[in-house]
Amino acid sequence: MNLTNIGTVKDILSRHGFSFSKGLGQNFIINPDICPRIAEYGNASQGFGVIEIGTGIGVLTAELAKRADKVSAVEIDTRLLPILNETLADFDNVKIYNEDVMKCDLHRIIREDFIGLKAAVCANLPYYITSPVIMLLLESRLPVESITVMVQKEAAQRLCAKVGSRESGAITVGVNYYGTVKKLFDVSRGSFMPSPNVDSAVIRIEPNGTPLLDEEEEKFFFRVIKSGFSQRRKTAANSLSSLMGISKDDVYEALRIIGLSENTRMEQLDMEQLIAFSKELRKKQ
Ligand code: SAM
Repeated sequence: MNLTNIGTVKDILSRHGFSFSKGLGQNFIINPDICPRIAEYGNASQGFGVIEIGTGIGVLTAELAKRADKVSAVEIDTRLLPILNETLADFDNVKIYNEDVMKCDLHRIIREDFIGLKAAVCANLPYYITSPVIMLLLESRLPVESITVMVQKEAAQRLCAKVGSRESGAITVGVNYYGTVKKLFDVSRGSFMPSPNVDSAVIRIEPNGTPLLDEEEEKFFFRVIKSGFSQRRKTAANSLSSLMGISKDDVYEALRIIGLSENTRMEQLDMEQLIAFSKELRKKQ
């Protein structure tokens, strides 16, 4: 079944009485070039089990299933299940979990479904939970070789920004702390049904196995990052004192110790400085 043929897609959707949910970020890929590329870049190959987040009608799922040994896909929308039964009928290596990815035990899926296989994540992510999903995968240290996901272009820019640059944010620090990130290619808005108002891009994250900080330090580091970047126009001292209850004088001192001025903003610190800053702030707790 050709799931990038607009006529075929419209026919399936209307036979099942399906209407798109904007709230669930349902923009399905109809450009035939995209899914094979995501699958190729995303480790969908022999010896791999792939987790997909958000199947839609299964256009990417099918490309993954053609290449990988197993595909375990998480889809929240129950209305898509009868459609997937039809569109993925030719594959016996696909398992669908009708769950919310934010509540799903992905570690268990890897343990139980991918015995003897390496694991990877591939997805065209629902835009409303891009950052939370990526942070969940990284923070939970999901044992995967790669995370290859399509996100809105603006999110891709933030994810791929340099830590310490104006474009960086909490998510930039998050991905760079846990691994390396690279933009692979752009995808125009016309590649989707329905077409969204913005273009997208595919990025690939390779997690690094070894944590830079111990568990407690890491927890504190992420509190600092999330608070520090949440009010972008403010200085680090203003954000951290209001959100973490550390006095301004203590923040100033921590900044001084690492050689920075009192009015430094979070986005001006590189990764090394952020880690040193967090360690100094932790002494003040
Ligand atoms: N992979 C398909 C494609 O590329 O055509 C669909 C991608 S669409 C951008 C996002 C999909 O994620 C939708 O099918 C939506 O129902 C699903 N979704 C949204 N929120 C979800 C959640 N919290 N957990 C699991 N799936 C979710």
